[in-house]
Amino acid sequence: ARLANQIAAGEVVERPASVVKELVENSIDAGATKITIEIEKGGSKRIKITDNGKGIVKDELTLALSRHATSKIKSLDDLESIHSLGFRGEALASISSVSRLTLTSKPVTQESAWQAIAVGRDMQVDIKPAAHPDGTSIDVEDLFFNTPARRKFLRTEKTEFTHIDEVVRRIALSKLEITIILSHNGKVIRQYRGAKTEKQIEKRIASVCGQGFIDNAIALDFKHDNLHLWGWIAKPEFYRSQNDLSYSYVNDRMMRDKLINHAIRQAYADRLNHDGYPAFVLFFNLDFADVDVNVHPAKHEVRFHQARFVHDFICSAVEQTLNNEQA
Ligand code: ADP
Ligand code: MG
Repeated sequence: ARLANQIAAGEVVERPASVVKELVENSIDAGATKITIEIEKGGSKRIKITDNGKGIVKDELTLALSRHATSKIKSLDDLESIHSLGFRGEALASISSVSRLTLTSKPVTQESAWQAIAVGRDMQVDIKPAAHPDGTSIDVEDLFFNTPARRKFLRTEKTEFTHIDEVVRRIALSKLEITIILSHNGKVIRQYRGAKTEKQIEKRIASVCGQGFIDNAIALDFKHDNLHLWGWIAKPEFYRSQNDLSYSYVNDRMMRDKLINHAIRQAYADRLNHDGYPAFVLFFNLDFADVDVNVHPAKHEVRFHQARFVHDFICSAVEQTLNNEQA
């Protein structure tokens, strides 16, 4: 069982940042309003995620650590309208096969907490009582300790942490209402406070993207039928030499989608320095039935059913916003 999971891990777990992404997405799916991420040595020593979500009942701890044990798809219909972030039921089993993973959880409805560890070649799950507030902690130690080839691929502590920081930044933008705290080697590095009001949201965007971005950004908000595009686009003068401040979200998922990026670039077209990239944070929402999100395991790409229409909607919204600003 461990070997099969390790093979699956090759797809899901590329480096510490991918572990952070999967675990934080699980916390979000569990309805957490606060997520704490503790990293040691760029994640190679420890990645610990603590949330205040709905938790996992004792009887389901073993299941949560086994492959294809997603609690998120109950029927084929669900596949058509996936609202949750994870739905393949592989992350925990995969991560646990290439690390020392401890899962501790206390659902509100359960009197005390329980802890689960999968050990040995057949990944037998041991369960024992534990102390934990409402919610879940997943402690991942010694990532890739038993897959030396992968461990060798890890970069320096600093580089791996930079990747984690970027993953957390993208998630912080996708879930503005959730408080997220990130620490490295015992020191708090980021504190993204949950934001609800317009003012708080602007502050949150500034804390993730920098005050410079917000100071040079134009707010955008367009609706057409069931399409909704909103967020901030930077004035053309605030262009970047790299594509490092362009964030787009489709139905709350972070995406690097060619169609969206193309639509935005086209809208900026002649206004940008020829080798500049526009900076933006854009949220795009549409009916779940009008988009496929599962085209790639890393889930960064989507397929819009009315691609041309979506492209033109985004392009003209951005173009109009830039035009209005100029007028
Ligand atoms: P998936 O997210 O694709 O369902 P995972 O392997 O990531 O698969 O997680 C397996 C299951 O464990 C989830 O379906 C969920 O029921 C449970 N789970 C994982 N993390 C958490 C968490 N932080 N809080 C509550 N339940 C969790
Ligand atoms: Mg998951």
